[in-house]
Amino acid sequence: MNHMDRKWIKCSFCERDERAVRKLIEGPNGVFICDKCVSLCKEIISSELEKEKIEDLKKVLLKPADIKKQLDEYVIGQEEAKRKLAVAVYNHYKRINYKKDVENEEDIEIEKSNILLIGPTGCGKTLLAGTLARLLDVPFAIADATTLTEAGYVGEDVENVLVNLFQAANYDIEKTEKGIIYIDEIDKIARKSYSPSITRDVSGEGVQQALLKILEGTISNIPPKGGRKHPNQEFIKIDTTNILFIVGGAFVGLEEIIERRLGEKSIGFQGKPRSNKEKLKEGILKKLEPEDLIHYGLIPELVGRIPVVATLQDLDEDALVRILVEPKNSVIKQYQKLLEFDNVKLNFSDSALREIARKTIERKTGARGLRAIVESIMTDIMFEVPSKSNVREIIINEEVVKNQSQPIFIYEESKIA
Ligand code: ADP
Repeated sequence: MNHMDRKWIKCSFCERDERAVRKLIEGPNGVFICDKCVSLCKEIISSELEKEKIEDLKKVLLKPADIKKQLDEYVIGQEEAKRKLAVAVYNHYKRINYKKDVENEEDIEIEKSNILLIGPTGCGKTLLAGTLARLLDVPFAIADATTLTEAGYVGEDVENVLVNLFQAANYDIEKTEKGIIYIDEIDKIARKSYSPSITRDVSGEGVQQALLKILEGTISNIPPKGGRKHPNQEFIKIDTTNILFIVGGAFVGLEEIIERRLGEKSIGFQGKPRSNKEKLKEGILKKLEPEDLIHYGLIPELVGRIPVVATLQDLDEDALVRILVEPKNSVIKQYQKLLEFDNVKLNFSDSALREIARKTIERKTGARGLRAIVESIMTDIMFEVPSKSNVREIIINEEVVKNQSQPIFIYEESKIA
């Protein structure tokens, strides 16, 4: 063919012909792309992806105020704890991202903000930790310190807590390493020698040591399916450096330890009205110092690794009433939703709510008792209503809660006769 007649193939993007490029790749229907355009496209794509990644990161990094606002939707009261948690969690995830940015550079090491929640049973400690994990979209596991043992003892190895987190992360190592672990009843593994009670676990200190290891950051070998370790097993390595630990406990008697340190005369909680007692306790706990926790029986190294401490209060009648109706998934909202499927409205009178709250306080299990009381009221109703096609509304008043009277049923007008 004559050189002049030859038709050179061109890049369909930049229109350079084959003489001006090194490679031309052919696509369907006679389109071509040259190596120069391919590398340009690659650059464009990776810069776009980078931008998206930064946007994603910003999304993940909810500000403390946003975190607090979202916690408010599920957790009633406990303002101080919510604020402290919001800040600690914000710093925690900032720390993880920051660490990635400055790898290999000499820089300030930001310490992990593990958190201690002090408060009576059923006041929202586990709820707070779990809600946090959910809103941050990170895996979450709960463990009870009293069931944990040092490796080799009968009971649950401390490392099994990591197995639970690994399972919650759907066996994804990277996700596991950014999760949150809540360890309840940390006060029950206090060291015996310091402790005022003789009923405490003797092996407490060993468990604290084991916990300390994973709390401060270590590479842990975990059996992927949990259970006892045995020699021929395959292990998975989990780096706990970025796992956030929230530990909680009631720490009964801690106020007295603080008081003693302060040298104040005993303020005597006994015999004071409940609301006053609560105020006094709150005031004293605000003066908590790390040494008080050590005195209580936590080992100093562990206390040193839990820099954020927040206290939660006993829930009073008003708070319990709010818990019944306000949270997004409150127990009453759940029943209302269930009955909605039968086209029935469910209403609780204010006095009924108060009575449920009062009954709950008597049980001394915090808000945990609310569900059981509401459930016992609702069982018969849930049994009967689906068979009664003409019920439009059910009203639960104080009498129903107090004396198990029948609730008020309102029927569809047309069907009354
Ligand atoms: P604990 O402090 O013993 O960890 P939980 O967080 O497990 O208590 O509380 C038990 C249940 O009581 C929760 O699942 C929740 O339904 C309810 N509850 C407790 N505290 C609160 C709160 N402050 N706001 C809303 N619900 C709460």
